[in-house]
Amino acid sequence: ELVNLKKRYKNSPVEAVRGVSFEVRAGEIFGLLGPNGAGKTTIIASITTLEKPTSGAVKVFGVDVAEDPLFTKRNVGVVHQEVINSGFFSVEEILHFVSGYYGINKNQERIRFLLHKLSLFQHKDKKVKQLSGGMKRRLMIAKALVHNPKVLLLDEPTAGVDIQLREDLWRFVQELRQEGMSILLTTHYLEEPEHLCDRVGIM
Ligand code: ADP
Repeated sequence: ELVNLKKRYKNSPVEAVRGVSFEVRAGEIFGLLGPNGAGKTTIIASITTLEKPTSGAVKVFGVDVAEDPLFTKRNVGVVHQEVINSGFFSVEEILHFVSGYYGINKNQERIRFLLHKLSLFQHKDKKVKQLSGGMKRRLMIAKALVHNPKVLLLDEPTAGVDIQLREDLWRFVQELRQEGMSILLTTHYLEEPEHLCDRVGIM
């Protein structure tokens, strides 16, 4: 839930987010639609505690993210726009590492499940640089889901991906919704919310 969230970056004359309020309900896909520069990424960064709001609040299951950032991180998964290249490690190793960041030591079952689900299993021993753009994107999604979060944030998940992968991702996101996950998705593509979202906020 966002309550009148405002954000002005240090040394910037622009108010990046000007008093935004909305809530994402359990088991829904909420689309945040707006052009480049509207403030969508800033909102995602505020939810994940990477950025501190200038005023207003963000709550995850009623808990203010600033007051209990660990609670937020345990419950939220996020897929950022940029592909982060961990050139040294294989796909499967990366997923074990990320699990470790969440304090999960033995996560083999969940990791195998995600590798299969995201069609990454046959690529599990590859290094990131050996992956195609689409596989990298799938890896980003797997990373966001290793700790089984209840909220998933997707920042322009289908920017620059081909039609096949886009439809695969849409199907997967719909499956996650069916399992009761709350999904916030930012996009500037009009057809994405039309196909996917239960409700839309326009910025
Ligand atoms: P969107 O994700 O919708 O494209 P952003 O949240 O990235 O929008 O950007 C919103 C506004 O905030 C833009 O005017 C952008 O230039 C500005 N902005 C984003 N990040 C920073 C930053 N770190 N410092 C200063 N200004 C920023």
